Amino acid sequence: MASVTLDNITKRYEDTVAVNDMNLEIRDGEFLTLVGPSGCGKSTTMETVAGLTIPTEGSVHIGDREVTDLPPKDRGISMVFQNIALFPHMDVYDNISFGLRLRKYDQTEIEERVERAADVVQLEGMMDRMPEEMSGGQRQRVAIARAIVREPEVFLMDEPLANLDAELRVHMRTQLQRLHRELDTTIVYVTHDQAQAMTMSDRVAVIDGGALQQVAPPLTCYNEPDNLFVAGFIGSPAMNFMEGAATDDGFESRYVDVPFDPAENGIEPDQSLTVGVRPEDVYLERDQELAAEPSRTYDAIVDVLEPMGDEMFVYLLLDEDVEASAEGRGAGQLLVSLDPDTVIGEGEEIEVVFDRSNIHVFDSDTGEAITHRLR
Ligand code: ADP
Repeated sequence: MASVTLDNITKRYEDTVAVNDMNLEIRDGEFLTLVGPSGCGKSTTMETVAGLTIPTEGSVHIGDREVTDLPPKDRGISMVFQNIALFPHMDVYDNISFGLRLRKYDQTEIEERVERAADVVQLEGMMDRMPEEMSGGQRQRVAIARAIVREPEVFLMDEPLANLDAELRVHMRTQLQRLHRELDTTIVYVTHDQAQAMTMSDRVAVIDGGALQQVAPPLTCYNEPDNLFVAGFIGSPAMNFMEGAATDDGFESRYVDVPFDPAENGIEPDQSLTVGVRPEDVYLERDQELAAEPSRTYDAIVDVLEPMGDEMFVYLLLDEDVEASAEGRGAGQLLVSLDPDTVIGEGEEIEVVFDRSNIHVFDSDTGEAITHRLR
C-alpha cells in the first residue's frame, strides 16, 4: 500500500494541454476514481502515475519516493486496461504467472500467489482454460489476477470494464469493491462512467479540460457539487438547470421564479444565476408533503412518460409555448422522477413543487456553487 501524490502536474502535447497544473493526494489504501468526459485528461493523469508519460512540469510521488522519471517497472504498480491483452496461446495459469516467471520467482512462491489471486477473482478450477474458451468477464478477471500476483503498492485501472456488457459491468463493479477490501491496496481507477465512479470509490476526482473540478466522496459531489460542471456530470439522469438572474426577492428566469432573500443566501442583486434541481427533488403538488421544504407551485404540462419499473421519468413542459427539444432538455423543460405507480397522463396539466432544501444555485459567470439549500 502507498499513497500517490501529484504536485503541479502539467502535460502539454504541442498545442494541447492534456493536464493543467493538477494537485492531487491519493491516500494510502484509498479507492480513488478519476472521472470526466472523453478527452478531459483522465488517462494522461493516470499515465503520469504509471510512468507511461513523463509530465511536462510537476512531480509524482508514490509513498515517500519520487517516481516522476522512473520507468513503470520500478514504481511498484500494476495496471489493468480496457483492452485485455491475454496471451492467446497460454492457459489461465500461464497468463497469470507470466510476469512472475519472467522475474524468476521461486516456483512455490508463484503457485501460492497465483492461487491467492485466482481465489480473489473467483477463477478457481479454470487454470487450464485457454483465453478463447472464456467470456469477456472471465478474461477480464484473468487480467486482474495477473495484476494482483505482482502484489503492487498501487493498482492502476483504466476503463477496465468498458468492453463488458451492462450486466457483467454491474457484477464486476461489486467484484472490484470486494477486491479492494480484500487486498487493502490503493486503487486509482479511470472511467468516463459516473455510475462506476459513484458506486465503487472512496473519493472521486472529477476532471474537465485537464483540470480538477472537485475531489470528494461520491455523495458529496452529488449533494454539494462545487460547480456547474460537477452538478451536470454526476447524477443520472442529470440535474435540471434554469438560467436567469437575481432580483431583490429571489431568482427570475423565463419560465421559473424562485423567491428567496438574496442577502441571506450570499447572492448579489442582478447576479447572473443558474438554478439546479435534481429530477428526484421535484414533486407533484398533491404529494408536496414528501418534500422536506416545498417551494411555491409551478404549472406544467406532461410531455413524455418513461416508466423504468422502479421509478418513472416524466418530461414536463413549463409552458405551452415550449418546444420539446429532440436532443434533450432545453429551457422550459423539466425532467422529474416520480413514483412508478403515479397515475398521470401525457398532455395532462399538473402542478409541481421543488424541494427548497435541495435547490442548488450557481453563479452563471464563474460556474461556482453559491448554495445547495435555499434559506
Ligand atoms: P481521457 O482519458 O480523459 O479521454 P486523455 O488523457 O486521453 O483524455 O487526453 C487528454 C487530451 O490530450 C485530449 O485532448 C487528447 O487528444 C490529448 N492527447 C492525449 N494523448 C496525446 C498524445 N500522445 N499526443 C497528442 N495529444 C494527446
